[in-house]
Amino acid sequence: MKDRTLLMIPGPIEFEPDVLAALGAPTTSHVAADFIEVFGQALEKTRKVFLSDDGQPFVLAGSGTLAMDTAVANVIEPGDRALVVNTGFFSDRMAAILERYGAQVTHVKAPVGGRPSIGEVETALKADHFKVMTITHVDTSTAVITDVKALARLAQQYGALSIVDGVCSVAGEELRMSEWDVDIALTASQKAISVPPGLALVVASPRALQTFKSRTTPVLSYYSDWTNWLPIMKAYEERKPSYFGTPAVNLIAALNVSLDQILKEGLDARFKRHRALGAAVQAALKALGLGQVPLEEEFAAHTLSAPRYPKGITQTDLLPKVQKAGAILAGGLHPEIRAEYFRIGHMGPTNSGDVLATIGAIEVGLQQCGYAFTSGAGVAAAQAAYYR
Ligand code: PMP
Repeated sequence: MKDRTLLMIPGPIEFEPDVLAALGAPTTSHVAADFIEVFGQALEKTRKVFLSDDGQPFVLAGSGTLAMDTAVANVIEPGDRALVVNTGFFSDRMAAILERYGAQVTHVKAPVGGRPSIGEVETALKADHFKVMTITHVDTSTAVITDVKALARLAQQYGALSIVDGVCSVAGEELRMSEWDVDIALTASQKAISVPPGLALVVASPRALQTFKSRTTPVLSYYSDWTNWLPIMKAYEERKPSYFGTPAVNLIAALNVSLDQILKEGLDARFKRHRALGAAVQAALKALGLGQVPLEEEFAAHTLSAPRYPKGITQTDLLPKVQKAGAILAGGLHPEIRAEYFRIGHMGPTNSGDVLATIGAIEVGLQQCGYAFTSGAGVAAAQAAYYR
């Protein structure tokens, strides 16, 4: 029998058959005319999915961490000051990358599950001049979403470039690069972009490219250096052969298919669908009496959820039972609370049926752990919230 266990972690996720078929098609040369067309189209569609009018897309072989590394390496010079709006593990990672490239980093940090207020960020921006401000749109370690629109506006107002880690948000959560004046946004293929792991996607605004071009010191990463990649990305968009490092031909073919599907659904419809999926999971967790890592409802992301284990139940008790009942979930990640919660991804092609099956599997697991609740309450609440 086909293994139909759902992969419901916050990336990688379940992928569409057409995307997987493109990945399995025969590999062509990276300078073959048909691949140049595919890569050229994928770059144009990447710009559209990031809702950028005039940004420069870079699609590189690598994971989301490479996308973060690339963004930072190209705009930071040793001694630059950077402000990190810190909402968890991945904001800490951004800070570590900034420091690696010589930046002096200041954090505006909230307690675990919280997020700094706009006022706190503004106070920090007023206190110093920062070249860059980084924002984690959805920190996958806490399932906390930040208000990128308001934060990017503040960065712009105080003359800092905004870098948005959208690894757990792009093509799922609302992110409008041009309209919100975001300078650099980045993601990875294996999340809401809905392509197997292996691609790092970065879009840089003209202002970010200008900052890169006016550097007085070399970019300290050879592979990430836009000096190498900018002519390549431009050549593919102009449908011309070029080479710096071999592109991930099959993944880019799969990306082109997935971006088509995303644009066909339409970004507004997609944001709305993710909000509905998030609301369904939130309603189910509430009905089951489970606490959550985000400290306020408003902070909860729509691409993943982070429920706390009921008292006395641990990861090794619950998650294998849930998996047996049909859904693979992820354990905790934030070092301060790792053992206290688990994570459910609900992004990309995830539909209401997947969410209902997952909540059903969680109910089975909870029941087998001896947790007392009304059987079916989570599924009923999810259904009601989704179809409200
Ligand atoms: N940022 C965020 C918000 C993430 O969720 C992740 C991956 N979970 C990363 C960065 C790093 O991406 P990768 O694991 O693909 O390197």
